[in-house]
Order: sequence, then structure tokens, then C-alpha cells
Amino acid sequence: MTDHLDAAHELAAAWLATLDHRPVRAEGDPSGLRRDLPAEGAAPADVVRELAAAAAPGLVASAGPRYFGFVTGGALPAALAADWLTSAWDQNAALHSMSPAAAAAEETVGRWVLDLLGLPAHAAFGIVTGAQMANVSGLAAARHGVLRDAGWDVEAHGLAGAPPIRVLAHEESHSTLFNALRLIGLGRDTVERVPADDQGRMVARLLRAALAEHDGGPAIVCAQAGNVNSGAFDPFDAIADACAEAGAWLHVDGAFGLWAAAAPGRAHLCAGVGRADSWAVDAHKWLNVPYDGALAIVRDPSTLAGALALTGAYLTVAADAERNGGDWAPEASRRARAFPMWAALRSLGREGLADLIERDCRLAALIARRLENAPGVAVLADVTLNQVLVRFGDDDAATEAVIARVQQEGTCWLGGTRWQGAAAMRISVSGWRTTEDDAERTAVAIATAWRRVRG
Ligand SMILES: *Cc1c(COP(=O)(O)O)cnc(C)c1O
Repeated sequence: MTDHLDAAHELAAAWLATLDHRPVRAEGDPSGLRRDLPAEGAAPADVVRELAAAAAPGLVASAGPRYFGFVTGGALPAALAADWLTSAWDQNAALHSMSPAAAAAEETVGRWVLDLLGLPAHAAFGIVTGAQMANVSGLAAARHGVLRDAGWDVEAHGLAGAPPIRVLAHEESHSTLFNALRLIGLGRDTVERVPADDQGRMVARLLRAALAEHDGGPAIVCAQAGNVNSGAFDPFDAIADACAEAGAWLHVDGAFGLWAAAAPGRAHLCAGVGRADSWAVDAHKWLNVPYDGALAIVRDPSTLAGALALTGAYLTVAADAERNGGDWAPEASRRARAFPMWAALRSLGREGLADLIERDCRLAALIARRLENAPGVAVLADVTLNQVLVRFGDDDAATEAVIARVQQEGTCWLGGTRWQGAAAMRISVSGWRTTEDDAERTAVAIATAWRRVRG
């Protein structure tokens, strides 16, 4: 009996067919989902239909071609189908013995990604839910590594009584980086913020000066590949030099930006990033794997295993032994997230991935060019990647009004942010479906909203 799967297939196909023309925003309130739990159960196919009908008003076309909010990828067809199979197979990716297939898919995805991003071939990686958890994992490895060098076993003894760790982060680090630091006990308000330049790049000279202020005790530096607003890249070579001199661990949050390394025309932006000690990169953003999935990558495998391995005997976890995925991630029992990642990468191939990255960057630049020609519109930062920041009438209220109008009108969806103290519209082109026509329609929708706001 597979009528429930047939129903899911039919409903999914119907949903996907709407993505190109329905309003991008949610159309109403999914009130049908809020009901009391009936005493009696229902047949699977009926449940699937009831769920789909109840959810429909609250669904957002975020996997569609004109969703530019936050940094949001769609779901590549092969990855979506592989994600269905992942649920049908229902493998537990914690241990090799639970699913040799899940373990092999993890190994292969990790190897492919290290190669595509130009990261050290012998780095360890964990497959996690998102960049926040990739930041947690990378920073837990960092905490392990810098304290081990100071003669302290943090996994055994905890942080109480440990040598203090200095944490220096990019002034505009993503909020999840601070969540990660908070979660691993390094605190949020104790972080020293290193200033950024007018494009949102960390100023390496100021990092070097800050590192020199102390005696070279345990220190972790958090840089970023892809400023969440401007898409700008930190100067990794200069930062890595400063970290090497100070003996500091360098962690890079590359949630979306690190994928630039896979596109020959953009890879220069990532120059030097391979010199870091740990990296976080999302799969559900620019790789267009359905939610959720990300990779935490760490140069010295013993630090990642030291922080996260399931067994007490973590020092015996060898990079070339049969892979137990749970030794490299914060979770024990885990969804086999490597299957949809494998499918996404296999369906794109090297060239397809490079094309996807390059195309989205080109379309972001196209939207910026169209908007910049309209009177009273300013593009606030160089468009070197897939992010565009736009301000209207040099006025916070006008900018917020344009954003609200665009969201309501429904041709596209994008959000707002603050850039150097001022309100800005933030456009992030990260999906595989977006075409030049979508970019043109988006520019027209935004320009029209601005005309209406000006009156
Ligand atoms: C999105 C993002 C994150 C958080 O990633 P999640 O996948 O939401 O956990 C972290 N850093 C940057 C730069 C991001 O863009």
C-alpha cells in the first residue's frame, strides 16, 4: 500500500508547479494546522492530504526563483528526490555498522567538498544541520585545540579553572557565531570585536594589533567568507599570517560564501582561506540541498574528534577507519544528510556547481545595475558575490516602506537589514531556479514599489 506516497508525490508536484507564478509570500494563516489532537487516528494518505491542505496558506515559495530573503537556496531536483529516499530508507548515520551506505556517502561528500573548496585533503569533517551547528562544531574543535596546547583537557575537566581563551571575531559576524560561542561556554559579551572596513571586510592590521596586546595564550579568531550583508570576504592571507604569529586558531564562517571557491571566476575572493584551522559551510544555502544540512570542517582531525567523538576513546578515532558519522558531529543518532548532498553534487558536477555560483553572482549584479539607474536609489556596497544592499531616498522609513510593499506585492520576497547604521534592503540570490527574466522582473517590482512610496 503506497497510496500515501502517491499522495505526497502528487501534492509535491502540484506545489512545485506553482513556484514560478504564485505570490512568493505566504497567502494567509495556516489555521487548519492548529487543532486539537483527535482521539482516533487516520489513514496515512488522508493525513498527508489534510496536512497539505492545512499548511497551504502558510507556505512561502522560498524554493522558487524569486525568493531573495536571508540567504536561502532552493532544492535541486535530484537532491529533493534523494531527500525523500533518505526518509524512506530511514538510516541512522551515527555509526558505520548502522548504515555502511550513509557512512560511505558522508565520506564521499566530505572528500568532494574539500576538493571543491580547496581545503586540506586530510581535514576532518562533520555533517551537521546548519552553519550554526557547523560553527559550534568548528569552535568546539578550536576550544579543544587551543586548550590542549595550553596543557588543559577541556573535555575531561570543563572550562572551570581552564586557562582563559581570548576570542576575537569580525565586528559583523553572523549572529549564529555568537550563539555558537555562547553554547560552548566561551560567552558572547567577552568576544573582542575586530572592526571592518567600508565593504564589511575585517581589517587585518587591527586584528594583528589586538593579538599583539597579550602574551600569546589560547586565542581563537573568527573570520568570514561572505559577509552576511555585503557578501565581502575577509583578507585571509593577512589574517592567517597574524594568527600564525600569535599562535591563534583561525575559524572561518563560510556559510554561503565559501562556495565561491568552487567557481573559477570567483575563487580569488577566497584566496588564503585554506590556511584556516576550521570552516563552516552550509549545504542548504548555495548548494541548494533541501533543509537541512551543512559541513563543519577541521584541519586537525584529532581536535574535532576530541571535542565531539561519541566514545570516550576518542583519541583512537582514526581518519581512515570505518567512518562513524556521530564521532564528527554533535548529534548521536542522525538523519543521513549526506545522501541529498551527494545527489546535489552529482547532479551538478563540478561545472554545474561553478555555473550555479557564477550565474547567481551575475544576476545579483544585474539587479544592482537596474536599480542603481533609478533616481533616489543607492547600492550600498560593491556587488562582488550574490548579495545586494539597496537604500531608497537615503531614508530609513522610505527603505522600510519599499521592502514592505515589495513583500506584499508578491512578485519576489526580500528582507531588510542595517548597514553602517542605516536601513537597507538586502537581496540575496542563492537559488538554482533564478533566471535573467526573474532578475529583471524583480528589479521592476522593486522600482515600482519605490515609485509608489515616493508618491
Ligand atoms: C546563514 C548563516 C549562518 C547560520 O546558518 P544556519 O544554516 O542558519 O544555521 C551562519 N553564518 C552565516 C554567514 C550565514 O549566512
